[in-house]
Parts: sequence; structure tokens; C-alpha cells
Amino acid sequence: MTIDDIDTALSHHYHLEHLFQSDKSFDKMIDATLLFIEFDELSYLHSYNIDDMLAPKITKSIKYYLSLDSYFQRVGDYQYIILLQNGVSSKELNQLIKQISNIFLEPISINDNLFYLTLSFGVSFSPKEGTTLYTLVKKAKYALKSREKFSQHSVITSEEIFTSTSYLKMTELMKDLPLAIENGEITWEYQPQYDYEKNAYTGAEMLARWKHPKYGDVSPEIFIPLAEETGMIAPLTVKLFIETSHSFKILEKNHINDFSLSINISPVFLMSKTFYTTIDFFISEYDLYHKKLHFEITEQILIKDIYLYSELFDKLKKLNIHIALDDFGTGYTSFNYLSELPISSIKIDKSLIKDIDKNLKNRTIVNAIYHMSQALNLDVIVEGVENSAENSIIKNYVSIKSQGYYHAKPMSLKELILKLIP
Ligand code: C2E
Ligand code: CA
Ligand code: CA
Repeated sequence: MTIDDIDTALSHHYHLEHLFQSDKSFDKMIDATLLFIEFDELSYLHSYNIDDMLAPKITKSIKYYLSLDSYFQRVGDYQYIILLQNGVSSKELNQLIKQISNIFLEPISINDNLFYLTLSFGVSFSPKEGTTLYTLVKKAKYALKSREKFSQHSVITSEEIFTSTSYLKMTELMKDLPLAIENGEITWEYQPQYDYEKNAYTGAEMLARWKHPKYGDVSPEIFIPLAEETGMIAPLTVKLFIETSHSFKILEKNHINDFSLSINISPVFLMSKTFYTTIDFFISEYDLYHKKLHFEITEQILIKDIYLYSELFDKLKKLNIHIALDDFGTGYTSFNYLSELPISSIKIDKSLIKDIDKNLKNRTIVNAIYHMSQALNLDVIVEGVENSAENSIIKNYVSIKSQGYYHAKPMSLKELILKLIP
């Protein structure tokens, strides 16, 4: 495969997913280095196609530093690759990365607006790590993504990451995940939600847990993204539905009625084609229609296409599902869309609750969110109340609910029932 072939392939396939399907090797290209560059997405400006506007400027600036025989291409939103031929030394590579980084210390101006961009690099080497564009891009991209999870360096080579224990652990976890879902190694804990007015726990959030035979407790913050990346999020959520239905039955058997169970719905699953039909099926087949089933959906996804979600949420509402906007206050929080969406409640993120007794800025934000929600008739729940100082602030808000270590940590269903039975 020659550079021209790659050029043709890429010009037809803007997104990397297509590129990944090409597995021809460019055998002549020994000693190549691939840089995968990703700019932090200006997600709050998503609807303005800001990336398309920035692309020509980014391209022009970067190309200035590239030699004629190197190859540059935009490969996705905010993503670019550079392919350097004929082996560059690590000093040259570092210098190039520095030059490119320096360009973006200055803001880019478009229509009189200034945009500050931050960027990261992932690097892979041919032939050591692969001789196809597919593998090189994949490894460089993987290096970049792993950096976000494992270390603070702004540049990491895939060589470094592929030999690190974290990488080995991740690949093992990835391999073990399907079976762990299948055989019940992944379970759920229940964190009670406290209603100040009723002076009682009125619901619980179900939180996934994985006790791995070799690695012990693996955080859902690690394995949920893994499940999302490897197509395992649908089966995992199906398990969760079955578990939820089962839990409602056990609660009822213990005369605990009128209790809500909240489950986290991954945006990846939510956006999949089978989402609605799967939900519809489980609601009817697993007797969930008359239960207090809540979906927690992260606020972050909504900015993209509010009307699309508005329709979907309407359909969910007809299935008697209560929708809570999770992690509220962490993204680009717009009150405008709140009134347009058929949601029932918002869940204020724990980052805003931390030290709320001391942090005046957070207190002001929480205050504003609360009053706006009241005006829009939305329930408010806060997460991450850890101590009595934080609790003493939160409890003053009328009809607010609270979830956090101060009231209760996540626990087994058995422990939950013991806690709820007087
Ligand atoms: P989240 O939905 O924001 O869940 C709240 C997280 O905060 C949980 O972490 C919970 O254990 C923790 N937490 C609760 N109270 C406190 C507190 O007082 N202080 C502090 N510092 N933390 C508190 P966990 O269980 O590790 O879950 C992390 C994330 O993983 C969740 O964030 C959620 O996004 C995801 N997740 C968990 N289970 C599932 C699941 O079944 N499906 C999906 N799609 N995602 C899940
Ligand atoms: Ca949640
Ligand atoms: Ca959260």
C-alpha cells in the first residue's frame, strides 16, 4: 500500500471506523512513525460545527512543520494523523510534538471568537507495532486513550503502554468481561436515597460491582467504559434489568413497596439501534411497568441532539419510566433544554456537593440549580453528601433528596432490606 492508496482510502472514509476495516499492509513503508492527534472536543459548542470551522486552520498550522514526504490527514472530529516516513529519531519526534503543541498555546480566531484548544498525542511505530495503517492508527489511538486513564503525560508511545502492567490488566479484563457478565461475577449494590421530608429512604441506586478472581474489586469506572468499547454494554444492561425485576420482587416480599430503583443507562446503549425495543421488551416481559423504575442518564449527552432525545424520552415516559439527569452541573448546563425535555428529576453531581459548607461558589451553583428545578417542577437529588457539615446545608432545601456516604454507602440487597425494615 502506498501513500497514494492511503490518501484515496482516507478521502473516501472520513471516519476511522472505516479505515479500521482496511487491512492491507504497506510493506514498503518500513520505519514509519504514526502520530495520532486529538483535540479536546469543545463539546459545549457541538451544534455549531466548530470542528469543521477549525479544521482548515489546524491543518494549515500543522502542515507548516511537516516535511514533504510526511502525510497528514484529518480522520475524524477533532482527530488527525501524521505519518512520518523513513524513521525519525526520538529527538526529532519530540521536537515536532513540541512545535505542534506550541502552535496551540495561542488561541485560534474564527468569526471574532477566540478558541483555546488543548491536544494530546498518541504514537506508534512501524514495523515494530504493525505494518498496516489500521494497526498503527489503532495502537496510537489506544496509547492516547490509555494515557487519559493511566497517566498524566501528554504524549505516550504505544510501545510504553503496551508493555505496562495497566495495559496487560486492561486486556485481561477485556477478555474476561463477557464471561463475568454471563456467569454473574458482576453484581449490583444498592445505595439508599434519603428523603428529608419523609425522614426515610425512598429509593436506591443500583451500582455495578466486579470482583475479579485475580484483580479483586474492579471499579465500574474501569469496566463500564470497557463494556462500552467492546460491545458488552447491551448484555450488561440486560443483566441489570433482570436483576432489577428480581430485586423489586424481593423488596415486595419483604413488604417494601413504593420504593424506587434507579439504574444507570450508558449513553452508548441509549444511542444504539436496539435500545428502545430492548427496553420495551423488558418492561413488559419482566413486569416492570408498575414499578418505580428510574433511569439515570448523564447530562453530558444531551447537548448533541436535544430533539432526538426529547422524542425518545417521551416514549420512555409512556413506559412509566422516570428519567433523572445524572451528573448534573458538570457539563455545559443549560436550563433552556430542561423545560423542553420530558424528564422527572435532576441529580446534582457530587463535585458540586463536596465542601459545600465551605465553598461559596459551589453553594451558589447548587442554589441556582435548585431554584430553577423548582420552577420547572423537577425533583432534585444530590449525590456525594459525605459529612454532617455538607448535610446541614443540603437538608435546608425543601423536598430535596440525598444520596451519599453520610446517609449510607452502597450495600447488598440483604443489607438494604435490613436497613429498610423498621
Ligand atoms: P454515578 O452514577 O455518578 O454514581 C455515583 C458514584 O458515586 C458511585 O460510584 C457511588 O459509589 C459514589 N458515591 C456515592 N456516595 C458517595 C459519596 O458520598 N462520596 C463519594 N466520593 N462518592 C460517592 P461507583 O459505584 O464507583 O460508580 C461509578 C460510576 O460507574 C457511576 O457514577 C456510573 O456512571 C457508573 N456505573 C455504575 N454502575 C453502573 C451500571 O450498572 N451501568 C452503567 N451504565 N454505569 C454504571
Ligand atoms: Ca448514577
Ligand atoms: Ca455523578
